[in-house]
Amino acid sequence: MTSALYSLFYRINGRFPWLLKIPVNLYWLGLRLVNWFRYGDQYFFKWVGIETCSFCNRKCDWCPVSTERDPKSHYMPRETFEKIVFELQGIRFNRWVCLCWYNEPLADARMWELVSWLKIRTKARVHIPTNGDYLDERKADELIRAGVDRLVVSMYPPVKRRVELQAIAAKYPARIYLREFDPDSPLFNRGGSVKVKNLYVQPKCINPIQTINVGWNGDVCLCCNDYHREHVFGNVNKQSLREIWDNPEYRRIRNEVRRGIFRLPVCRRCVGIEK
Ligand code: SF4
Ligand code: SF4
Repeated sequence: MTSALYSLFYRINGRFPWLLKIPVNLYWLGLRLVNWFRYGDQYFFKWVGIETCSFCNRKCDWCPVSTERDPKSHYMPRETFEKIVFELQGIRFNRWVCLCWYNEPLADARMWELVSWLKIRTKARVHIPTNGDYLDERKADELIRAGVDRLVVSMYPPVKRRVELQAIAAKYPARIYLREFDPDSPLFNRGGSVKVKNLYVQPKCINPIQTINVGWNGDVCLCCNDYHREHVFGNVNKQSLREIWDNPEYRRIRNEVRRGIFRLPVCRRCVGIEK
């Protein structure tokens, strides 16, 4: 049931984004107030993306991985992951950590152990998106036991194991969600690195810019749509997340895109101003 509601939310948001505007605006307002009191920054990151490995087994048309894949698979060193977790523990981060970027997280055999380590030390909630190809009942059991709060299986066409995936999701209805995917729905073009049929155009950039994304080598770049990592603002192996987040240049760009001022070429391509 929960899984069906989640899919419904995605579909409504894709087709009628205006319908969800009021509750979404109220949510943002509340979040800004909490951020202000807790971190002195109303736009403090609410989402940490961590690329634990760089490998993906698929080639989806709407994803730059399909055309510009790094032939080598890279894994985030354990010390880098631990450093991030200790920092999140230090700032009492209790929002979402997404263990994915442009990769298939369940291809990383360490995943359940990394989740478990993160959940023991922080109050963060763990989100893992997956294409489902590596998901079986044993792996689902492991991940749920480790503490994954939300495992979202994107049903990318062609969907091959629908019945099996439905059975796995039904076992954990509050944790595992199946997301029906429509390639014709509005999609990001990933900073212009891929062509999509129906570009998701945003007059102001809000959601992606409240995310801090850490690549497998520790680099933190502009946002999840900066596929080529054109704008790197620091590296977690040398600086803290907070230091990187407070980088004056990074802060200036975030403030601009939030107001709908898109100066960087990657942003201009992302919102369709430039090809
Ligand atoms: S499964 Fe995800 S990361 Fe892999 S190619 Fe498809 S969209 Fe990209
Ligand atoms: S507009 Fe710029 S900052 Fe915002 S999502 Fe696109 S590339 Fe990222």
